[in-house]
Amino acid sequence: FNYYSSDMDPRELPRPHKKYPSLELPSPVEERSLCMPQNGCHCHNCKELVELTECPICTGGYQRGVTACDHCGNVMCWSCAAKMPSCPFCRRPRPPARNTALERIFNKLQLPCNPSRLDSKKQSSLTMTEHVCLAKKDCPWTGELGSLAGHLEADHDISVLVGSGITIEIGGFRSKVRASDKRGRQYTVSLACYASIFVLNISLLKKKMRLLFTGASSHPTQRFGAWLEVDSSYRTMKGIMPVSTQRHKQKELFISCDGLLSPWRSNDDVVRMNITIRPLS
Ligand SMILES: [Zn+2]
Ligand SMILES: [Zn+2]
Ligand SMILES: [Zn+2]
Ligand SMILES: [Zn+2]
Repeated sequence: FNYYSSDMDPRELPRPHKKYPSLELPSPVEERSLCMPQNGCHCHNCKELVELTECPICTGGYQRGVTACDHCGNVMCWSCAAKMPSCPFCRRPRPPARNTALERIFNKLQLPCNPSRLDSKKQSSLTMTEHVCLAKKDCPWTGELGSLAGHLEADHDISVLVGSGITIEIGGFRSKVRASDKRGRQYTVSLACYASIFVLNISLLKKKMRLLFTGASSHPTQRFGAWLEVDSSYRTMKGIMPVSTQRHKQKELFISCDGLLSPWRSNDDVVRMNITIRPLS
C-alpha cells in the first residue's frame, strides 16, 4: 500500500496538527499501569530507562528540556546545560545543545520504576534541603543541589566533571614544592557523581600537600570516601579518606612532599594523584 499517489508532491501531504511535542512528562506516576515497582518489574529496559531519564548532574527529570553534547553524546537537562560554559563530560568548550529528538522520545515514554519520584516524602525532603557553597566558607550562596554545579563554575571558576574519578598530574613538582615555602598553590576541581557534588581542593603549602575534600549530597545519610593513590616513579602511597558532606566536619590530610620524589634522580619530577569517590557502606 502506497500513501503517495504519483502525481502528488510529498511536500504537500497533510501534516499532523500538533506542531511540537509538549515538554511535560506523561501522566503522573500513580496512573501508570506499566512497570510499577510493586508489579515487581526488574526488567533491564526499565532500569536503563530510569537512569537515562534522570539528569546525571542535578538528578532531576527532563521536564525543562533535554540537551546532548554533539561531541561525546552525553545527555543532561536543559537547566544544567544553560549554566555550563562547556560540556562537563568531555570538556569541549561548547555547552550541550537542545536535543528535540530525545525530547520527543522521553515525552512518549511511560517513565517506569523511578523510586525517587514515587516516594513523595523523599521528594519533598529533597527539595527542602538547602545546600551551602562548597568552594568558600564565606560565600553567601545557598540553594538546591541541582544549581550548585552551576554556581561553582560561574562564580568560583571551578570545573565540574561528571564521574567519580579523576587523575591529577603535577609536573615540575620540585620547583612547585620549593616555591610553596613562600607562596601556596591551589588546585580545585569538582566531581558530580552519586547524586552528589564533591569539591576536591589540593594545595601545596610549606612543602606539604594539603587535601581537603567536601561534598554535598542528596542522600543526607550516605557517607562517602575518597580512594587516593599518590604516585611518582619513586613511590606510591595509597589510602582512603572520608569525605564529609557536612560543612563543619571537614577533615584535611597532609602529605609531606619531601618523600614523594627520589632524592637522587632530579629528572623525575611528576607526581600523579588518582582520586576516586565511592559510597561507604
Ligand atoms: Zn519494566
Ligand atoms: Zn540537570
Ligand atoms: Zn561532551
Ligand atoms: Zn560559592
